[in-house]
Amino acid sequence: MPSRPEPRSFCLDHAGVKAWLMDPDPEALQRLWSEADRIRQARVGEAVHLRGLVEISNHCLRHCLYCGLRAPSTGLERYRMEAGEILACAREAVRLGYGSVVLQGGEDPGLTRTFIAGVIRAIKQETPLAITLSLGERCDDDLLAWKEAGADRYLLRFETSDPQLYRRIHPDLPGIPSDRLAQLTRMRGMGYEIGTGVMVGIPGQTWDSLAFDILRFRDFDMDMIGMGPFLPSPRTPLGGHGSVAFLAPADQQVPNDELTTLKAVALTRLACPDANIPSTTALATLDRTQGRELALMRGANVVMPNVTPLHLRALYEIYPGKACLGESPAACQGCLEGRLHAIGRTVAKGPGGRKRALHEDAVSCDSNH
Ligand code: SAH
Repeated sequence: MPSRPEPRSFCLDHAGVKAWLMDPDPEALQRLWSEADRIRQARVGEAVHLRGLVEISNHCLRHCLYCGLRAPSTGLERYRMEAGEILACAREAVRLGYGSVVLQGGEDPGLTRTFIAGVIRAIKQETPLAITLSLGERCDDDLLAWKEAGADRYLLRFETSDPQLYRRIHPDLPGIPSDRLAQLTRMRGMGYEIGTGVMVGIPGQTWDSLAFDILRFRDFDMDMIGMGPFLPSPRTPLGGHGSVAFLAPADQQVPNDELTTLKAVALTRLACPDANIPSTTALATLDRTQGRELALMRGANVVMPNVTPLHLRALYEIYPGKACLGESPAACQGCLEGRLHAIGRTVAKGPGGRKRALHEDAVSCDSNH
């Protein structure tokens, strides 16, 4: 009698992560989903942290090949919120019971050091919110000033761990080589909680490189890790037929689909058991019916509901067809709470920073779990 093959272990070396990413077998994947959910529950609990997302500017000086906000995007009306408008969104986040806000924007020099520091101070003076910034690559003097003003966290996805692909899709500014991992490391030294992430299935991303991305989250001990599918924007070079030239050979190219994104989320939870991991809007855009819930059931513990004023939201068009585009913050809150309760989860109270485990029960590569 041929013996049944041993089930795959949760050993997270490069070969192990890659094998899980490429595994199409629903029965095997059921074990991955259960393990990711078990670790999520044991390490970060049932409560889901809600962060109010404020998209404060869609100006951008970069030419990233994937993003609809890129400088050369024509026909996109540009906006930059006033300090008073941003503060009003923060108040709305407090009213809705959220513990933190994320101020995100294009890489916009119009968001000056003084302006952002003033906004941070005003929010901190008036509210108990934790403040996360996501404003792209900025100089250390800006980052230090914002930390001093009261910022708590910074999100900066490294987008891909493949240096050649990164340079192609995220061109340097003239004379300034882009090094997002170096900025993340410096920000950690300044006292920020640091968040990063990648897009799943961007043209040119191979199984090997996605596996390296996940190991890098662990090696850098990232506090927050966001992953969503790459969604092509017709405003960009990667949005149309031009992207074909970027694709890796068919057996190596990662697809930008829901299943692969969910595998990446689950494996990231195993690799980084106590990180804060959002169920992203990009995934909810791909699967409006249950994208949010599936990620939460397979490793994620954070959602970032949009609290940007409705008339500006459509202009923050990183990719088209964003989920929840027309939902008022109040409607969004009702919908979300319903969805969370339906899957047996609760809404977290408070700012929801990373809680480090006292001890690591790392998965050993010598045994199956
Ligand atoms: N300017 C900031 C914020 C960018 S938007 C910065 O560069 O960090 C936040 C994230 O959206 C990006 O880091 C990228 O990972 C993701 N994103 C951009 N374009 C996308 C697309 N077409 N599909 C899916 N995600 C995208």
